[in-house]
Amino acid sequence: MPHPEDDAAQAPTSVQAPAPAPVATAPDPTPAADAVDVADAGVSREVDEPAVEWDDDAGDGDDVEVGDGGDDDDGGDDDDAMDDDDAFAGEDDEQSVLGEIAAADIVLDPGEAETVEAVLPTIHPRKWIRHRRAPRERLEQIAHRYDVPVADFREWNGISPDTHNVKQGRRLRVRARRLPPPRRKLDYTVAAGDTWWSVALRHGVDARDVRSYNWPYKGKMAPGTKLILWVDPIVHDWITDGQPPETVDPGQQVRRGAVGIGPPDDGRLLNGVEIPPSSTYNLRLPKSAYGTTYAVSEFVAAMADFEKTGGHGRPLEIGAMSRQNGGEIGTHRSHQTGRDVDIRLPRKPNVARFRPLTPKRVDWGATWKLVQVLATHDVAVVFLDFDMQKQLYKHAKAHGATEAELRKLLQYPRGRGAARGLVRHSDGHVRHMHVRFGCGPYETECVP
Ligand SMILES: [Zn+2]
Repeated sequence: MPHPEDDAAQAPTSVQAPAPAPVATAPDPTPAADAVDVADAGVSREVDEPAVEWDDDAGDGDDVEVGDGGDDDDGGDDDDAMDDDDAFAGEDDEQSVLGEIAAADIVLDPGEAETVEAVLPTIHPRKWIRHRRAPRERLEQIAHRYDVPVADFREWNGISPDTHNVKQGRRLRVRARRLPPPRRKLDYTVAAGDTWWSVALRHGVDARDVRSYNWPYKGKMAPGTKLILWVDPIVHDWITDGQPPETVDPGQQVRRGAVGIGPPDDGRLLNGVEIPPSSTYNLRLPKSAYGTTYAVSEFVAAMADFEKTGGHGRPLEIGAMSRQNGGEIGTHRSHQTGRDVDIRLPRKPNVARFRPLTPKRVDWGATWKLVQVLATHDVAVVFLDFDMQKQLYKHAKAHGATEAELRKLLQYPRGRGAARGLVRHSDGHVRHMHVRFGCGPYETECVP
């Protein structure tokens, strides 16, 4: 994501000129004794990373990247492959704006943060601040939190590219573009029935981190034991607002607490939530059907709306979203933070499933409805091959779409590099569209 030097245009209220040096220069206080860095204490990482396993019925190469020419090797048995080459042409003009401009009291030290009221992430003119590293916080994560390029962040602090952790408690300078309140330390008393997972989920932290904060953790899941947690105030308050996260909101099928960290092509998913089953769609890759609470909710709502329009008469075929913990997935370049999902183009009713999905076999009416529906939700971008956009354009125009609507929704005919329209060209997105949802308002480390 480019971060132009002068981004004053993004800052409606210029409260002060950016200072040339960190505003806070007080000497580092000694870190609290109970906040010892346990990041490198040797907690094993063996924990439940689900393996990527594609559906058996697809057999060969389901969802495997086949590159630009992939659509040509369309053999009958290749029918289920969701070719995916996430090249992000035209992605550059995505706005990295989250939430609303909100007044926020910024407290720079985690130790002082107990009193900070959680607020939405705030877009702010670039402002130099200090950040004191909380346990288990990775450098990349801190950079994401303040929405700054990781390379710049390293440079400001003289940290080499191979260093991923610095001493806990170290103060780091950041010329922040977003100012969420810092992580805060929380004491938690274990209750009967708790597990590392349930405690982590309830507080919006990673279960591995919870164990690490409380190293050595053996025997500490006994009722009455005091645990230390480092929570993100915004995520924590969202989750604990009213009821435990396992309880879904009325009318909502998706539990809270799943948030994306970092950009879609270099990030992870915290406490990912599974796309719920539905008669409106088939999840073809159930082990890769996890997302953020926000993206999954938006997806579910969009699918329900699509159904209401008459949809397609049959379930849509859904490919990969993310793995439960996000990160790299197969040969996809993105799909790492629980915000990207692949949807196969709906086929005409009389086309058998084993036939290769050529343009003539696509149900363009249903495809157009789907794009229209997605546009009414928080979708950042949809990737679809430019030549396929042309087919969609022709169909929509012949069926009464206005110029204004076509311009708003499709990049075509303005060229495959044009940064226009919700749907953008990306190589390899011929038989499926790739939908990227926005960052939720409580996702403090999500990078658009
Ligand atoms: Zn994709």
